[in-house]
Formats: sequence, structure tokens, C-alpha cells
Amino acid sequence: MSFASLNLAPPLLRAITEQGYTEPTPIQAQAIPAVLEGKDIMGCAQTGTGKTAGFTLPLLQLLLPHASTSTSPARHPVRALVLVPTRELAAQVEESVRTYGKYVPLRAAVVYGGIDIKPQIKALHVGVEIVVATPGRLLDHLEQKSINLSQVQILVLDEADRMLDMGFLPDLKRILSMLPAQRQNLMFSATFSEDIKKLANQIMRSPTLIEVARRNAPSELVTHSAYEIPAGHKHALLAHLIRTRDMQQVLIFTRKKIDADRLSRQLQRDGLLATAIHSDRSQAERTIALEEFKTGKAKILVATEVAARGLDIDQLPFVINYELPHTPEDYVHRIGRTGRAGMTGEAISLVSPDETEYLVNIEKLLKRPIPRLPAPELSEPRRGRTGSSGSSSGSSSSRPPARAYGDARASSSGEPVDREEARQQRTIREAKESGRSRQRGGGNDRGAPAASSPASNLPHFDFSKPYESMKKPVDENAETQTAGAHGTHGTLPDTSPAKRKVRATGALLGGLRRKTENSGNS
Ligand code: AMP
Repeated sequence: MSFASLNLAPPLLRAITEQGYTEPTPIQAQAIPAVLEGKDIMGCAQTGTGKTAGFTLPLLQLLLPHASTSTSPARHPVRALVLVPTRELAAQVEESVRTYGKYVPLRAAVVYGGIDIKPQIKALHVGVEIVVATPGRLLDHLEQKSINLSQVQILVLDEADRMLDMGFLPDLKRILSMLPAQRQNLMFSATFSEDIKKLANQIMRSPTLIEVARRNAPSELVTHSAYEIPAGHKHALLAHLIRTRDMQQVLIFTRKKIDADRLSRQLQRDGLLATAIHSDRSQAERTIALEEFKTGKAKILVATEVAARGLDIDQLPFVINYELPHTPEDYVHRIGRTGRAGMTGEAISLVSPDETEYLVNIEKLLKRPIPRLPAPELSEPRRGRTGSSGSSSGSSSSRPPARAYGDARASSSGEPVDREEARQQRTIREAKESGRSRQRGGGNDRGAPAASSPASNLPHFDFSKPYESMKKPVDENAETQTAGAHGTHGTLPDTSPAKRKVRATGALLGGLRRKTENSGNS
């Protein structure tokens, strides 16, 4: 299928071609025609599936008839509102609007917290058709009357599940109450909890349900593995893995902000190029950290779940869970940073005994076991601790006994340090092989890996069934959102919103790909 066959306007097709996209991703193939028809959409998809273009492209096309080169703000009312949970995602979505709308004379602005509100007020004042916002700062603007939402035709709720997790429901309700009742609603969520279904029922009229393989389905391209080790050994093993596996770009997750900082500093002391991102850092610091990571200036980004949410980093080969998340869905979100766009990736978890339960829950959610890898023996005893997971520069009281895990500098050559290392790498290769054989449709134990890897026991997993949601808190303190701004331009031919056709959504769970069911819905 081509983008042209989706009836997208030439200026959009031009921008798409410039991006080097040759064909629509599954969510784009399904969402673009439905949105162009004016339907409400409930999309089950995550970052990495191409969903941003999936709603941005048709949104731009629908607004094209309103494109105007007039300088009068009155000619540029806000017609589309995109709500997202985090600042980073807001910036990314706005960038996508700018990219795809490059040849379309529509204006866009992004508003999120943590930065001066005045430039945003200025940007909104001149008039913009599309606003990408985090809820908190948008409310600030509404209170200051620097934005008027009375002409919004299209509402997009991106990463709706995360917005609820972050406690944005009251803010959302307030914002929704200020929108015209007659509008098109597009909602995207990675998971379908009861709360999400409730929200969807409240704001959408019989939406078309669009599902693409959930995050852990494309993750057939991701090799999962875990090291079960004492917390105090984690830092040494981590540094060892980074060096011996020659990891050039790795995203590492901790649960708490303080541990992200601490671990990043420890890795820096190890001579590794690390930086950290979390919600206590200023927006400028977060932007710099992300940029350094994307450009390779920093090879290691230590992040908390919330801060990393929605990050779009091309071809990220490694995600390491330094600490496991308490809710299994967050594992799925985390590892969703790798294995994108057909690239393979590795998700490695360092699991201390007190985290075993979390690992078991993750396996339940994934409906398959995660191979345990044998931890290598490392030479030097490590020092100190990082959060729950021990590490450098501390007292000897946290020093692990007997078979200590040493400073990774012992293996800084990048070569496998010993037979144990070679065995470990073989096990990883074998786990990957096993994954590939599953992907080819074997779904059984054929091509069984070495005895050291339980990958041989991996059952075939039916990815056609979305996973059940398990209720989740957010580990890091929820980020408070509130605003930034950029202008955006573009132009487009016409496709006026088709009449809304009421179609009911059946059970949100179950079934792959698009489902448009006719069963009464609120
Ligand atoms: P998203 O899920 O929207 O965050 O997109 C993930 C990544 O996929 C982004 O880097 C996009 O640039 C890229 N992308 C989106 N659509 C396509 C496509 N049709 N072909 C190739 N890459 C795409």
C-alpha cells in the first residue's frame, strides 16, 4: 500500500516522501482513512508504531480548507487540540506536525510546562490552528484567556492511559468541558484499562476501534533477558555489560529520580558517557540530555519511567531495566523504546531477589518466560550502592560477599573477558535465534537454545490478543505539566470532514487489527 492510495493531499505526500517513508505503517493504513472520513477513533497503539503521523497527517488534511495566509488572528482559531501527557511527547508531536505540515499553510503551537509561559502566549496570540499541549499548562492558558477552544473541531488524546496514570483526569475533564460538543475525537492508548474504556465512552461517539499489534508484538524483534543478581551487584554488572557488549546507545531505567542521577554519576565515574533524564531536571536540562543521547554525545541515558515516556529515539538497540517497574505494563512501555521500525533490539533486566515478583508479573503479562542469563563472574569487588541496587563510592558494608561483581574496567577492551562472557554472549545469540524461530511461525521449542537459557521452553505466544491491563501507579512523582511554543506552517488541498457516522465499538479487548463493530454504544 502506498500513501498516495490513502488519498492524502500532494503537499502531505511531498513531506512524507522527504521523510523517506515508502509505505504506511499498519496504524497509519487504518487510521488515516477513518480520520479523513470524520470518524471518532480509539487507537490501541504506542509510540514507535507511527501513530503520530497516523493522526497528524489526516488532521492536517482535514484542516486544509481552513488554511489561510491572513495575518489576522481571527482567521486562525484553534481547530485541533492534541493533548499529551509529557513535555517531551508534546515537543515531539509538535515537531511531527511541523514536519508533515511543512508544505501546508496551517499554524501550530506547542504549550507545556516548565518553561516561560510568555512566548507561548505570544505564539497563541497571533492565531494557530493546531495546539499540542500538556493538560496543566493548557489550563493555565485557559485561565489567563490566552487561548480559546470554542472552535476546536478535532481533539486528539495521545497516550491517554499515561495521562490517567499521571492523574490528569480532573484536568482533562475541565478541558473537555470547554470544547464544543460537536467535534471529532481521536484517542490513542497503549492499554485498555477500565478507566480508559470509561473515558472513551464518555467522550467518544461509537468510535472506530483500531488496533495494531501491541508493543510487545513488534517486540518479537526484541530479545528479552534477565540477570538474577543481588541488588548490590547491579552496578558492576551493568558497567560490565555496557563495556563488553560494546553498547553504543543504551537507555537505562531506574524507578526513582534520585537513583537515575546517582547511577548516571556512577557510570560517569566509570568513564562511561552517561546522562540522566527525569522530572526534577529543568526542561532545558532534559532537552540537552535527550539531544546528547540522540546525537551520541552521551551513550547512556538513565531515565525514569515518566521522563522516558513517549521518547522517540531511532533504532535504539538496548534498553536495560536497572530496576524493574512495579507494574508490568511499564515494562512493556520501557522496552517499547527498542525494536522499532523493523530493527532488532535487546531488553535486559537486572533483577534482585526482591524484584522476582515483578518479573513473574511481567512474564504473565507477556505470556511467556523471560530467559535468565547466567551472570558473569567479575573480578574486582564493587563499591557502594545505587538506590536499591548497590554500586560505587560507598561503605564496605554493602560490599557483596565472596563472588563479588567487579568494576567493569577490568573488561574495558570490549572483548569477551573470559569463558563465562563468551558463554553469556552465546546464550544471548541463542535466545535471539529462538525468538527468530518463533517469529517465523514456529511458536514452539524448535531450534532450542542451550540449556543455560530457558528460551527453549518459550511457548508460542498469541500476539493477536491484547494483554490485560493491570492497574498501575506511576513510580516517579507524576510530572506536573504546564507550556513552550513554536510556530508551524504548512498547506493542503481539500478534504472536508465527512459526516460523522456513528458506529459502535464492541469489546475493546480481543482481536488484532481494525475492528469496526456495530453494537450500541454510548
Ligand atoms: P511514532 O510512533 O509516531 O512515535 O513514530 C515512530 C517513528 O516511526 C518515528 O521516528 C517516525 O518518524 C517513524 N515513522 C512514522 N511513520 C513511518 C513510516 N510510514 N515509515 C517509516 N517510518 C515511519
